[in-house]
Amino acid sequence: MDGQSFHQRTLKHRASIEGVGLHTGQPVRLTLSPACADSGIVFVRTDLAPTLEIPAECASVVDTVLNTSLGRDGVRIGTVEHVLAALAGCGIDAARIEVEGPEVPIADGSSAPFVQLIQRAGIHELRAPRRFLQVRKAVAVTDGDKVAKLLPARHFRMTYTIDFQHPLISDQTCALELDGRSFRKEIARARTFGFKRDVEKLHRAGLARGGSLENAVVVDDFHILNPEGLRFPDEFVRHKILDAIGDLALLGMPVIGHFVAVKSGHALNHQLVRKALAEGGACEVVQPRAADELYAMQNSLLPVLTLEEQVA
Ligand SMILES: [Zn+2]
Repeated sequence: MDGQSFHQRTLKHRASIEGVGLHTGQPVRLTLSPACADSGIVFVRTDLAPTLEIPAECASVVDTVLNTSLGRDGVRIGTVEHVLAALAGCGIDAARIEVEGPEVPIADGSSAPFVQLIQRAGIHELRAPRRFLQVRKAVAVTDGDKVAKLLPARHFRMTYTIDFQHPLISDQTCALELDGRSFRKEIARARTFGFKRDVEKLHRAGLARGGSLENAVVVDDFHILNPEGLRFPDEFVRHKILDAIGDLALLGMPVIGHFVAVKSGHALNHQLVRKALAEGGACEVVQPRAADELYAMQNSLLPVLTLEEQVA
C-alpha cells in the first residue's frame, strides 16, 4: 500500500468563481486558496476589513433553516453546504474559502461547478497524515418521522430516503458507497430543488431572491418546470445526499461509517454531527498505518489522478 495516499491534501493554486447568492440575489466572488496542514477548511469574509475567518466546523453553525449558515462575532456566511460537499468529495483536507460577501454563490445549484473549480486549482499533497473520524457505535437523532444516524461501517456509505408526498418526489431511496469517483459521477451534479408555491412564498418574504430555473429544479403540483428536465431520474434524493455530505464535512474530517437518513435535512444533519462529536466513544479519530486493512480500503478513496477527469 502506498502510504503517501494518506497524506492531507490542499489546493495547488488559487481559483475563483463568480455568481449570485441564492438568498441575497447579489453577485459574489468565491476564491479557493491553498492552506497549511491541519488547518482544516476555513471560510474567510474578504469583503470585511479586517477580514474575518470562520472555521468550517460544527461550533460555527448559526442557522440550518433552508441552508446551512456559519457565523462568528455576528458575521455570517450562508449556503456553505455545496462547496463543502465538493471539497469533501474531492478529498481536500485543508483550504481557505474566501468569499466577498455574506453568501456562497449558488452557481447551478449543485456541487459540479465547485468540483470544476477544484480541478482548475489543482490538488497538492501535504506531508501531514490524513485523519479520519471512525464511527465506533451508532448515533441517531430523530424529529417526528425524520431520522438521521451514523453507524459503524468499514467504508463511507450513505443511504438516504425522501418522501415529499408529491407524485414526482415520493419515496426515493439512494444508497451508495462514496469515493471520489462515485461522488463526481453520481452526486456532484444533482441540483437543489424547490416547490413553485414555496418559491413564490420565499420571494414574497424577500428570500431566495437569486433563485431561478438556472440554479434549482422547480416543481409545481405535477410537473418539473425546468425545460431541460432532470439530470438524474432521482436527482432530488441525490441532492439530499450532496447536502448531507456538506453537513457531515462539519465533523472536520472524512468519516468512516454509514450515514442513514429518512426525510432528514440540514437541521437534523447538524444535530447528528453535534451528537456524534459530543457523545463519548461514538467516534474516534484514526490515522493511517501501513498494513492496516482499513486504510487499504481508504486507499481507493479519492485518487488524485482521477480528479483530472472532467465532471461529466
Ligand atoms: Zn443543497
